[in-house]
Amino acid sequence: TKLSLATLKDIAATASVPAYERGGLAAGIVHFGVGNFHRAHQAVYLDDLFNLGLDHDWAIVGAGVLPSDAAMRDKLAGQDFLTTVVEQDNNRSGARVTGAMIGYLAPGNAAATVARLADPAIRIVSLTITEGGYFIDPASGVFDPTHPAIAADAANPGDPKTVFGLILAGLSARRDKGIAPYTVMSCDNIPHNGKVTRAAVSGLARLSDPALADWIEANVAFPNGMVDRITPATGPREIAIAADDYGIDDAWPVFCEEFKQWVLEDHFPQGRPALEKAGVQFVPDVAPYEHMKIRILNGGHAAIAYPAALLDIHFVHEAMEDVDIRAFLAKLEREEIIPVIPPVPDTDLNDYFALIERRFLNPKIADTIPRLAQDGSNRQPKFILPSTADRLSRGEDVVGLSLVSALWCHYLAGKTDSGKDIAFNDPNIDRIRAAATAAKGDPGAFLELRDIFGTVAGSDLFRKRFAHALECLQREGTRATLRRYLENRL
Ligand code: NAD
Repeated sequence: TKLSLATLKDIAATASVPAYERGGLAAGIVHFGVGNFHRAHQAVYLDDLFNLGLDHDWAIVGAGVLPSDAAMRDKLAGQDFLTTVVEQDNNRSGARVTGAMIGYLAPGNAAATVARLADPAIRIVSLTITEGGYFIDPASGVFDPTHPAIAADAANPGDPKTVFGLILAGLSARRDKGIAPYTVMSCDNIPHNGKVTRAAVSGLARLSDPALADWIEANVAFPNGMVDRITPATGPREIAIAADDYGIDDAWPVFCEEFKQWVLEDHFPQGRPALEKAGVQFVPDVAPYEHMKIRILNGGHAAIAYPAALLDIHFVHEAMEDVDIRAFLAKLEREEIIPVIPPVPDTDLNDYFALIERRFLNPKIADTIPRLAQDGSNRQPKFILPSTADRLSRGEDVVGLSLVSALWCHYLAGKTDSGKDIAFNDPNIDRIRAAATAAKGDPGAFLELRDIFGTVAGSDLFRKRFAHALECLQREGTRATLRRYLENRL
């Protein structure tokens, strides 16, 4: 059955459908970046809230700036902006149709987008535009006002092309008309995403209108949030499953795990939907939650990626089914990572890790080891080395964390344990591979990547542990080294 408002009654036989009248919804949110994650996360929380009969004046209007967004808009418009969301637990799947989105502004039409942003009914502008969408300079880690796209919007604020140019034009129009500004809510996977978004919006304003920048800093809220739900990309396989298993002809369904989490700072001067009734946690400070997620979940992914790759394992759930890799992850998290994470309100970190193990074991998600193994030069310093540094500064040992660094180095040497060539995907690959090659006779050579290892490279204990683990990997191979670690013989 072709998905549409008119066919929802038929679709209700195989999937749950909105319990509310779509005609009764009114727009309250403009969302930039209507990709898979938004449709698996924010749009689902709102759909849950609307199903409770609440807050029907907070429906979503989509927006985007890329040419690819126009194609996506057409697909959604062709099905009344409805989305099929297939939620997959380890041994159970279910489909639902969500209806929280009621329109989608034409990408490229700045005038129409700014007019909608200036509408007083819009009280939140939210974003999922990927980490790369924030114009952060990789070297300094802060907003780059010299980026050509930003410079172009600063030179021509009346016809913006970037998300931040549009948000700024909308805020400027509201200030001129005396309409209170909307809250800008980033839902991207970036630590301190609210702060990063504020830096981009006010940084752009400062280039063309410093008084507007001051007004934004004084009046616009940018709450920080931590978001979590593993949501792979949609391909022909997902479209076929929606049709074959649920009888829904959806041009762009979303598949995701059943788990979802959203922790948000409650800073919404123009009001917000009662998302706490749909399971969102409102907290004064999201930093402890971000810390937990980055070190345990992202750090866990970064730890299993290299032993799995070296053992020719392709899927994440297959890595977790390998007894040695699974035990390695558990020992590393329990003995070294979790003990140095500051307490998180109302959360038992061991329970959180048990849930992560279960999520990594989910075979339906089909997440891959090559995806986790890519970009190590960015991921190791964000997800692993801060735990190493914290332990060293407390005088604690780092046997397991040093092994993670050694596994990454051994992987960069280019062959799996069975002798297959490894394909790399890392922006710094030449430099890090050269260091890994030099480490064959001289382990310390890898730690000369000072921008990656930072202060950790100066620790004698870390250098000793790393060198020993790497030599053991080179001499005995990955599995034997993991077993040494598991038996406290490394
Ligand atoms: P996606 O590819 O399905 O969608 C990405 C969206 O961002 C598209 O609408 C695209 O047009 C837009 N976009 C990309 N680059 C942009 C740019 N430079 N300027 C403006 N818009 C841009 O990806 P997704 O799965 O929806 O993930 C998007 C983001 O959501 C991630 O980068 C991450 O920050 C966050 N997230 C994703 C997951 C996940 O498992 N997929 C989990 C947690 C958080």
